[in-house]
Amino acid sequence: MAGKIIIDIERCKGCTLCVTVCPNNVITISEKSNSKGYFPAESTGPNCTGCTNCAIVCPDCAIEVYRDKTGSEKIDIKSVNPIKKNEINNLARESK
Ligand code: SF4
Ligand code: SF4
Repeated sequence: MAGKIIIDIERCKGCTLCVTVCPNNVITISEKSNSKGYFPAESTGPNCTGCTNCAIVCPDCAIEVYRDKTGSEKIDIKSVNPIKKNEINNLARESK
């Protein structure tokens, strides 16, 4: 399934949690800092499936996820199954 993310680079603090939980390795940390001096996450390629892992784990709510055949439907992260949210947050914790 096609997906895409939009990262608000001014909200991002470069914590790398989203990089850790992306199953398709399509997020990296930019070499260019934002106005606050953080190096923000950035999407690197077309392989996003819109799984929402990155947006669930982001402590700064800096990621929006879009998913459908054309990647244009915004996913409401509040509507994601809480069991999935727990699994993703545990995954991020274990990676520390
Ligand atoms: S929605 Fe899923 S596949 Fe897309 S960037 Fe986020 S974690 Fe990776
Ligand atoms: S989880 Fe959020 S704050 Fe952390 S690097 Fe990713 S987008 Fe930035």
